[in-house]
Amino acid sequence: MQKKAFILIMLFMLSACGGTSNEDSITDDSDGNLTEGYVFNESLMNTPESVSMENCILLDGTTAECYKVTFNSNPVEHGPYCPETIDDIGGVGIYDGETNPGFQVMKRELWEAMEADGYDVVDDNNNINIVDPGAGGALDGSACLEATPDDNLTLTFLIPATPKNATSNNTIDIVEHLGVSKDGIPITGHPPSATQGPQGMTASSDSAGIPAIDPCGGHIDPFGYYHLHFGSEEMENVLTANELSDFVMCYNFVQSETDFIGYAKDGYPIYASKDQNDTIPENIDECQGHTSATADYPNGVYHYHVSNSSAPNLPTCLKGVSAEDAFTYQ
Ligand SMILES: [Zn+2]
Ligand SMILES: [Zn+2]
Repeated sequence: MQKKAFILIMLFMLSACGGTSNEDSITDDSDGNLTEGYVFNESLMNTPESVSMENCILLDGTTAECYKVTFNSNPVEHGPYCPETIDDIGGVGIYDGETNPGFQVMKRELWEAMEADGYDVVDDNNNINIVDPGAGGALDGSACLEATPDDNLTLTFLIPATPKNATSNNTIDIVEHLGVSKDGIPITGHPPSATQGPQGMTASSDSAGIPAIDPCGGHIDPFGYYHLHFGSEEMENVLTANELSDFVMCYNFVQSETDFIGYAKDGYPIYASKDQNDTIPENIDECQGHTSATADYPNGVYHYHVSNSSAPNLPTCLKGVSAEDAFTYQ
């Protein structure tokens, strides 16, 4: 394990210096599938608390080798979320009501649309009703949802060292765990519906709770950890494509169109929208993935891309099998 990690780091340094690629690290067969070597490369992850290898149970019932990687919660600056009044500007949200639905900035037009739909989210003093879904209880009336961070959690991710393709694509459900960013931030499927009720809350027909998302595409879970519903490295492009960049911008993540973003929970890497040749790949599949060389995998690897325009912009399915308890926290 130690020796393997050392070799991987040396390979990374060699490739970063433009050295010769190593034939032993990753090998493609004629189908482009990886036949030997580990895909997960801990040197691509920023400041994990610990990295170890252990046997894990995959969701298809088989046993595999997994990397167990732990991080502290909330490693980056985050916010803003809900604005205090109708005249302030907060983060962003995805509204699924009748009037002016879609991905938008949390400002006057959103609250007026919600009021038009019968959701009483603004009080008589023009203050926004803000509810912390981590504080428990049902959603009373309508609100902008914003939770309280707990910076002392340990997040643990189990990632298959060698991805194993599933017999069919695994669709990522709303708020389902999708992967881990290079900073150790959980990457999550679409945020919950504003009008149908978020996790743990039952919205009645006249109540809505819209989760506030910061301009980098993340927010605090009710249990206190920051997580991402977007590939944050592309947020400047996504905000611009949705005509929101005059109001909000992502400052807490380095913006890039080609960088490594993290690992999906099936073990395949996730990249920003473009390949290393600076073009958007034309051959991506229904999971926004394809097999080609990347800066980190010069011999080729299956990998996902995030969109530079859609909101959310993450893959909506995964090709591989993930581990049981792929993400836990305490
Ligand atoms: Zn969320
Ligand atoms: Zn690619």
